[in-house]
Amino acid sequence: IPVDEFDLVIFGGTGDLARRKILPGLFRRYLAGQMPRGSRIIGAARTEMDDAGYREMVSEAVAEFGGPEKADATGLADFLAALRYVAIDATGDGGWSDLAALMRDGVVRAFYFSVAPSLFGDLAERLHTYGIADRNSRIVVEKPFGRDLASAKALNDTLAAHFNEGQIYRIDHYLGKETVQNLMAVRFGNVLFEPLWNSHYVDHIQITVAETVGVGGRGAYYDKSGAMRDMVQNHLMQLLCLIAMEPPSVFGADEVRDEKLKVIRALQPVESHHIVRGQYDANGDTPSFRADVENPRSFTESFIAMKVNVSNWRWADTPFYLRTGKKMKGRASEIAVVFKDLGHSIFEGDTARHRNILAIRLQPNEGIDLQVTIKEPGPGGMRLIDVPLDMTFADALGDDAEPATDAYERLIMDVIRGNQTLFMRGDEVEAAWAWTDPLINGWEARNDVPKLYDQGSAGPEDAMMLMHRDGRRWRDVK
Ligand code: NAD
Repeated sequence: IPVDEFDLVIFGGTGDLARRKILPGLFRRYLAGQMPRGSRIIGAARTEMDDAGYREMVSEAVAEFGGPEKADATGLADFLAALRYVAIDATGDGGWSDLAALMRDGVVRAFYFSVAPSLFGDLAERLHTYGIADRNSRIVVEKPFGRDLASAKALNDTLAAHFNEGQIYRIDHYLGKETVQNLMAVRFGNVLFEPLWNSHYVDHIQITVAETVGVGGRGAYYDKSGAMRDMVQNHLMQLLCLIAMEPPSVFGADEVRDEKLKVIRALQPVESHHIVRGQYDANGDTPSFRADVENPRSFTESFIAMKVNVSNWRWADTPFYLRTGKKMKGRASEIAVVFKDLGHSIFEGDTARHRNILAIRLQPNEGIDLQVTIKEPGPGGMRLIDVPLDMTFADALGDDAEPATDAYERLIMDVIRGNQTLFMRGDEVEAAWAWTDPLINGWEARNDVPKLYDQGSAGPEDAMMLMHRDGRRWRDVK
C-alpha cells in the first residue's frame, strides 16, 4: 500500500543502527515502489559531511547490509538522489537552522531518534524551538526506553512536553516481524484456535529468544542492563501480550494496546525460585561474560529463564515460561503454545504423549506450524506419529530478507501511514517496568550471583529444572 509523500529525518543517520537496518530497509521499500517520488530521507548527525559524502556512506551501508537488492545499481542511484544530510548538534545550536530551511510543507514529517536516549529531550525541544516539528509530525524512538519505571516516566514526560501520545512511535522491532503479525491473523482470523485459547486446553506456553552471539562491542552498556532489561521487559513481554491478550473489538492501535496493557497489569510478581539467571563461562580461549564486559565482579545476567503467571480467568493455571540468552546453542526465537494431552488414547499400544503444539518461529525460517498427530503412512498398522503442519507461505517474505531489517522497514512505513498499532504506548512501557522493577530490585538486594553456563549450551542446568519440576521440558534450541 503506497504511503503519502514524506520527509524522514534520521537523527543518528550515520550510526550503526541507521547503517545496518534503517537505511537498507528504506532502500528496499524504495525498490518496492513504496516510497513516493519526491520523498526524502535526511540524515542528521554530528559528523561534518555534505550530501555527496552521505550518499557515499549510505551506498557502502547498502553494499554491506542490503541483501540481494543491492545489485540494482539504477535503483540505488535513484534512491541515493533522495538523500540529504545536515550536520547537527543535538545539544547545541549547530545545524538546526539548516535543517529548518530544508523542511517542506505539505508532506509528512517524521523524525527518527536513532541516538542515545539521553539526547531525546534535546532533540524534542529543538524540533520545537526551531519550528521544525508541526502538529502532524511523528517521532520514532528506539530502545532502551528507560532502565526502570522512574527513568521511563521521565522519558515519557520529556517527550510529552513537546509531542502528544499520538505522535510518538516507540519501536519494538519484534512487533514488526511478519510472523508476529501472522500470529494475530492465525489467532483472530480462524474459528479453530480461539475456543481452545485458554487454560482448559493450553498446558503452557514457552517463549524463547536464543542468541549465539555474545555482548559484542556493547559490553559497557550490556553490563548495566542484562537480559531482563535488554530483552524481557520489552521484546518477550510484547510477545507474551500478543499471545495472552483478549480479542480487541477491532485491529486498531488503541484497541490492541488497551488489551496488551491489561495483560501486563495482570502479571503476577514472580517468586525468586521461579527465576534463573545465568552468565556464560569462558571456553578455552573464548572469554567469559565477565571478560567480555571487562568487569571481573559483574553480577549481570546474560541469560534468564522464568515462570510467569497471568492472573485472569483465561490463563489461571497456564504458566508462561520465558527464556532468553546469549552464547547459546542456536539462534532461535519461537513462541510455542503447548496444548494439553488427550486424557485417553483409543489406540492400543500407543503410550506416547501426543500433543498439539502451535509453534511460531521468529527465526530462523520465520513461520508458523502446528504439530498434529496422524497415522504413520504404510501398512504397519495403526501407528501414530506427530508431524508439523506448515501454515506459512514460505515465499511470502521474498528472497532471504534479513528478518530484522524486514521488521524495521515495515514499521517505518507504518509511521508514515500514521498507524501506531505495532508500537508501544507510554502506559504499556511504564506498566512493563512496574512489573520488572521489583524483580530486578529483589536480586540486586540479595546480591544474587548468576549461574555459570557453557557457551553453546541451552543455559544453566537450573533452567532445565525450572521446567522439570513441573513435569515439562523446554523445546530444543536448534
Ligand atoms: P551509534 O553510536 O552507532 O550512533 C550514534 C549516532 O548518534 C551517530 O550518528 C552520531 O553522530 C549521533 N550523535 C551522537 N551524539 C550526537 C549529538 N550530540 N548530536 C547529534 N548527533 C549525535 O549508535 P547506534 O548503535 O546507531 O544506536 C542508536 C540508538 O539506537 C541507541 O539509542 C541504541 O540504544 C538504539 N539501538 C541500536 C541498535 C543497534 O543494533 N545498533 C539496536 C536497538 C536499539
